[in-house]
Amino acid sequence: MTLKPYAEALADLFYPQRCVGCSRRSSDVLCRSCFEGLPEITPPLCGRCGLPTAFEVYGCDGCRTIELAFDGARAPLRYEGVGKGAVHALKYAGHRPVVERVMAPLMAGCLEGERFDAVVAVPLHRARLAKRGFNQAEVIGRRGR
Ligand SMILES: [Zn+2]
Ligand SMILES: [Zn+2]
Repeated sequence: MTLKPYAEALADLFYPQRCVGCSRRSSDVLCRSCFEGLPEITPPLCGRCGLPTAFEVYGCDGCRTIELAFDGARAPLRYEGVGKGAVHALKYAGHRPVVERVMAPLMAGCLEGERFDAVVAVPLHRARLAKRGFNQAEVIGRRGR
């Protein structure tokens, strides 16, 4: 067994994990810089598909001609940069803390003030559920619990 250099061991003590956005040592799932760089989707947006728009609309150029099985969709982040890193950590590494500590609170935040009857998690295929160990939609729906 080789001992890690002292500085490395000390860093492990204070920063036991890697940021899912930049892979640098971090005291949380995201370092401060990546947290501040989250590509959040903020209004104005399309009330139907949730895409950012120039002004509030219900039905935008991106969804107007598409038939949807729901009244409205929301996403807290764009799939780019740190947002993409967070999704990859979840999908390919089964990183539950990123769901609990980042995605669930962001989703709850972007639904604040919205009217809806229920929160329903999309089921996960049992093979995927067995591999990942949890259904991320369920964790998000429970606000991270
Ligand atoms: Zn980072
Ligand atoms: Zn739209």
